[in-house]
Amino acid sequence: MSRRGLVAGNWKMNGLIEAADALVSGILAGLAQRGGKVQCDVLVCPPFTAIQSVGKRIAGSAIKLGGQNMSEHTPGAHTGEITGQMLTNIGCSFVILGHSERRSMYGEDSQLVSRKMASAYRDGLTPIVCVGETLQERESGKTLDVIRGQVSAIFPNLPADTAKREQLVLAYEPVWAIGTGKTASPEQAQEVHAFIRGMLVEQLGGGVANKVRILYGGSVKPDNAKVIFSKPDVDGGLIGGAALKPEDFLGIIDGF
Ligand code: PEP
Repeated sequence: MSRRGLVAGNWKMNGLIEAADALVSGILAGLAQRGGKVQCDVLVCPPFTAIQSVGKRIAGSAIKLGGQNMSEHTPGAHTGEITGQMLTNIGCSFVILGHSERRSMYGEDSQLVSRKMASAYRDGLTPIVCVGETLQERESGKTLDVIRGQVSAIFPNLPADTAKREQLVLAYEPVWAIGTGKTASPEQAQEVHAFIRGMLVEQLGGGVANKVRILYGGSVKPDNAKVIFSKPDVDGGLIGGAALKPEDFLGIIDGF
């Protein structure tokens, strides 16, 4: 694979500072046991309140830091929101956008997610844009239509700059596989990833499309990571539950 893999931990709304510190210390210890060498990029996305403290612990290590969401707006009267610049200010280089929980619980649609993506680029962050179908959509044969709609929305807001386009990360996360223990089969994941790659080729050209990383998310565990990551268009994972236990997260990293 010409793209470097990425394993990203989405800690969601879990962890006071002490617990977040303990979690990242466990990951750091595991990486040290591996001689500090891993075959993929590693990212952790703690809750906002723990980012700074986790950032101090990972300073000088290979682990990168990200946020789980951000506002589309510039600073101003937006109570309860946070800008991308606030994330970079505390050491983040990535931000997860359009996670299915944001879409289903907080009404984020693909246009808003796309505007947030533009704001993330503006603020110097690498966006990880999540897409995925519900169980009902899959069972009624609409998976690829849903994915087409969600992915199409990003193109009008992508920066013109080639390097920035190549930086983009997409995450295919079938909603029915998130936190359920049901994983898409490697073949199901590859089918959707190849479809997304095809859209990227059409819209951005093969040069850019072949650099964009497409992660799979949905009940990835140490025992299924390797086979999923072995698929040609799967460039790593966005990990929820298993990112909260150092041994599981490290086991997934070992999938590369
Ligand atoms: C997620 O929430 O992004 C996720 C993939 O969760 P889990 O790994 O727990 O299914």
